[in-house]
Amino acid sequence: MKKKRHLKKEAKIFLIGLGLLIFIIIVILIIPKKEKVLMPLFVGLKKEDAIEFCKLNNCKVDISYEYNIDFEKDEIIKQNKEKNSELKDNEKIEIVISKGINYQVYSDNNVNELGRIPVMMYHGIIDKKSEETSYTGGNVDKDGYQRTYEAFINDLEFYYKSGYRMIRLADYINGKIDCELGKSPIVLTFDDGLSNSIKVTGLDEKGNIIIDPHSAVGILESFKKKYPDFKVTATFFLNGGLFNQKEYNDKIIDWMIKNGYDIGNHTYSHADLTTTTEEETIKEVGRMYKLLKSKTNKFVNIVALPYGTPYKSTHANFKHVLSGTYEGESYQTDCTLRVGWESDYSPFSESFNPQFVKRIRAYDNDGNDFDITYNFKYLETRRYISDGNPNTVVVKNENVEKVTPTNLKIIGY
Ligand SMILES: [Zn+2]
Repeated sequence: MKKKRHLKKEAKIFLIGLGLLIFIIIVILIIPKKEKVLMPLFVGLKKEDAIEFCKLNNCKVDISYEYNIDFEKDEIIKQNKEKNSELKDNEKIEIVISKGINYQVYSDNNVNELGRIPVMMYHGIIDKKSEETSYTGGNVDKDGYQRTYEAFINDLEFYYKSGYRMIRLADYINGKIDCELGKSPIVLTFDDGLSNSIKVTGLDEKGNIIIDPHSAVGILESFKKKYPDFKVTATFFLNGGLFNQKEYNDKIIDWMIKNGYDIGNHTYSHADLTTTTEEETIKEVGRMYKLLKSKTNKFVNIVALPYGTPYKSTHANFKHVLSGTYEGESYQTDCTLRVGWESDYSPFSESFNPQFVKRIRAYDNDGNDFDITYNFKYLETRRYISDGNPNTVVVKNENVEKVTPTNLKIIGY
């Protein structure tokens, strides 16, 4: 009897326990689960949108500010959490808000991306000190086409210290100007493929060329090490003899391309293109392109006009410099260089003509007749001064209208 009662009691406890378990399961199934909160994409929205979201979803916003040219003032530029990642309760999210464009920095640096750009024309760099010549300054000949290595070193120091930074000629022509804020672009060119452009004295044990440190490239390479922000580069315009070092020409061209230099066309036999027939003009230009093409596919489609001829782009031969077909292969020239006297326009100027670009002859003449001193004095108030961003064209408000149509963002200040 006693045992029976005891069993009843156990069954009761079991039933109560079972009921409780079922109840808990039902409660768990019935009570709606709290929904996950996911991080939205705030970028492009306003600050208030993020604040409002966090008020409703129990999170905190940490806001910082920075200048930005791509986002309007008060727009959200960045968020620390990825879109659709889960937000914990009370989580702190970080956003960065645009302060808009920093116009002050433009006026502090006198930014002027409609300013002029010097394209320097060099020929030979002669292994002599300037006092060893009987000509003015660093000139080695009367007209200063050949320059002492010492004068060339001084030129480079002067460009660097005056706030100029090198850019590639092809980038100038194409309006791709990547230059530090407050600095001015400068382009270096060398004509005639003289052996002293890059004098090779032999090969090292790995078969690499050894470059004479007093040749143009030797000097440029030492500046590359001395001033890494100088962005050393230059374009060399060649004739049929290339760099006039038969055994090394191919190695030199490979080395040039690998080391940030460019090579272009100076006609096959350095012809005066005012005296050639139209057919001869095509041959001079086309044959040189063909030779370059046989050496590398990375030459630039730029012709430095020998003697600066033709002097006018209206000359009958000029169109054959720009395009033609030689031995079944057609060529196209993006830019021609004149034997010139002064800096040329910004690529963003409506006056700029990339097909006929002026150069400054790098020579000394006591500040007269468009020598280096004369030109850089002229440039002091007229030079291109960069905003540091290759994707924008920044000019004074009154000059915005003078900017040629471009895909880049134009900013007036
Ligand atoms: Zn020449």
